[in-house]
Amino acid sequence: MSPQNRAVFLDRDETLNKDPGYISQPAQVELYPGVAQGLYRLKDAGFLLIVVSNQSGVARGHITWDQLKSVNDRLNELLILEAKVKIDHFEICPHHPHDFCECRKPKPLLITAAAKKYDIDVARSYMIGDRDTDLDAGRAAGCAQVFQIDHKNPEAFTIIVNNILEKIPKT
Ligand SMILES: [Mg+2]
Ligand SMILES: [Zn+2]
Repeated sequence: MSPQNRAVFLDRDETLNKDPGYISQPAQVELYPGVAQGLYRLKDAGFLLIVVSNQSGVARGHITWDQLKSVNDRLNELLILEAKVKIDHFEICPHHPHDFCECRKPKPLLITAAAKKYDIDVARSYMIGDRDTDLDAGRAAGCAQVFQIDHKNPEAFTIIVNNILEKIPKT
């Protein structure tokens, strides 16, 4: 049977939250404007919300797995506070670029691995990220479309969400 679910795959740093560099403390997490409300609208339209994130700070020794988890938990706490929505799953590459692992974006494995776990049809799913490597990962995985975000425009996230929601059939 073909996969049943659709998702929006999301880069984390500089896509959902500001990135001061190797965030290690929950108190450092700060959402960009429009993100919580936008994620709520995507969830409401039936998309799973999957973060796919390179976190080489783990391999570099800047952050521990426990710190990474508490930062991700804080992200969800803020999303719940702001818009009663949360990320369904975090798929993380903890490796150093020099490890030449199989999962670090721009490789598609973070996306394809999450798709397998959650029965996601990648061809009916989308990728949002700030870097070319995010978009390349989305394309390599076979996403329907990839979107590059630049928060210099405070409406940027909302515009992308509008764009995605316009593409899905009305029920
Ligand atoms: Mg990023
Ligand atoms: Zn990796």
